[in-house]
Amino acid sequence: PRSGFCISNSVFYSKRKPIPFPQTDFLDVTTFISSRPHHGKTAFIDAATGRHLSFRDLWKAVDSVATCLHDMGIRKGHVILLLSPNSIFFPIVCLSVMSLGAVITTSNPLSTPREIAKQIANSKPSLAFTTPELVSKLNETNSNLPLILIDDEIIDASTKTKAKIVTTLSEMVKNEPSGSRVREQVNQDDTATLLYSSGTTGESKGVVSSHKNLIAMVQTVVERFRLNEGDHKFVCTVPMFHIYGLAVFATGILAAGSTVIVLSKFDMGEMLSTIVKYRATYLPLVPPILVALINGADQLRARYDLSSLKFVISGGAPLSKEAIEGFSEKYPGVTILQAYGLTESAGVGASMDTLEESRRYGTAGLLSPNTEAKIVDPESGKALLVNQTGELWLRAPSVMKGYFRNAEATSSTIDSEGWLRTGDLCYIDDDGFIFVVDRLKELIKYKGYQVPPAELEALLLTHPEISDAAVIPFPDKQAGQFPMAYVVRKAGSNLSEKAVMDFIAGLVAPYKRIRRVAFIAAIPRNPSGKILRKDLIKLATSKL
Ligand code: AMP
Repeated sequence: PRSGFCISNSVFYSKRKPIPFPQTDFLDVTTFISSRPHHGKTAFIDAATGRHLSFRDLWKAVDSVATCLHDMGIRKGHVILLLSPNSIFFPIVCLSVMSLGAVITTSNPLSTPREIAKQIANSKPSLAFTTPELVSKLNETNSNLPLILIDDEIIDASTKTKAKIVTTLSEMVKNEPSGSRVREQVNQDDTATLLYSSGTTGESKGVVSSHKNLIAMVQTVVERFRLNEGDHKFVCTVPMFHIYGLAVFATGILAAGSTVIVLSKFDMGEMLSTIVKYRATYLPLVPPILVALINGADQLRARYDLSSLKFVISGGAPLSKEAIEGFSEKYPGVTILQAYGLTESAGVGASMDTLEESRRYGTAGLLSPNTEAKIVDPESGKALLVNQTGELWLRAPSVMKGYFRNAEATSSTIDSEGWLRTGDLCYIDDDGFIFVVDRLKELIKYKGYQVPPAELEALLLTHPEISDAAVIPFPDKQAGQFPMAYVVRKAGSNLSEKAVMDFIAGLVAPYKRIRRVAFIAAIPRNPSGKILRKDLIKLATSKL
């Protein structure tokens, strides 16, 4: 890759200094991370219990767990499901699985058994790691997967009898590997993770990311935080099952050697008292939490001494210029750094890394190192130039190998030259800053969580009184957007809006719920049958 922002043949090159990529074929991401110097003595702290995990203990635990998994017959290419809220054990599971060349697939703990069963049917895991509270959910999938419990809390006898619990993580950690543990030869091109994303269209698909993809991501994360040197402490409340949390907390920050204080889930009071207690400096968030911090600023600032906090990172969804201005006014000592990325690019895309860059309000920052971009006119397919708006295409060593067992979705998302269509409408200014203007793709983001409209539409069509349906994003100050459904009732049906919402609420995780319904005579479609979503969005928002 070239150095310095320039455009050549309609390709935008990153302004950031290229990072030399490790040229060895055989390198797994965990070896890459663990070989870096660890400035922080403590890798993870559990916010609730205060339990510390040093870097030394972390890597020892990874070795022990990997050895046990190997003894159980887990080999390169086997898929392991991880269904757990954030914890200091989450990274141990991910790293030990990946160190064997096996593949980690994560699931949102809020998912319903139906949703988890779908992921299990698609990814075919050999076993699952989960917490005692989630065992009954896995039982309901009827997958009969062998389970490893992440902690040892007592679970009720009937749940335990139904489940195939083989061991616990703490038993595995106790297992001291005798001599050096078995190491599989892992090629950089081998698959490391299988996270689920709906991409530009359709239902959720497995995103196949290789060790190379993750090494490139880790390099980007390390470079990003190197610029603001110091002994940093991060508070982790973003979910580790999503690329945002996985990239920053389960891999990237470990390579940077900082300390991470882990919260099992988001709770405003707990998050703020954790910052105070540990004098945390970095807080990665999603926009809705930032908005809540602005709205409650006067009370919160009076209650919590946040003077240690230097940087808030906002990613996963757009953050408005007004929100940035509001936040800067309420918390003048804190710098907001925006970051933009996708599951399909292992979270890499663009970012603001310094105080100076953060002053470019309204932008998502500069292209990440080793990353190239094109802005493509969605109608004509023509590549555009600076300050012209079109679809952002990315090419980078972090871009996924493709969608799992889905050649069609892969070829319509990545072209033969390796360009990934992001589905985001963007422009790049004269200085190389990226502005995300709108989303071309169907995807709805509720509080940063993915809600694929196609999935909700398919479910709506299973209702006996619905003949057609379309789901679109509806703007919301707090959540960013929520799903709204346009529904065509069958002749004679008196189906109510509430009945439609309740029907879906019984089938999906709470963040995917339909929160607004309108009835319509027919869903507008183009001649090939594609829903004209933009027309429906216009109709829904015209009265706002
Ligand atoms: P996910 O794969 O869940 O990370 O979703 C990726 C999508 O989230 C992107 O394609 C964007 O539509 C959106 N997104 C992520 N970060 C940003 C950002 N900083 N600004 C605007 N949209 C974002």
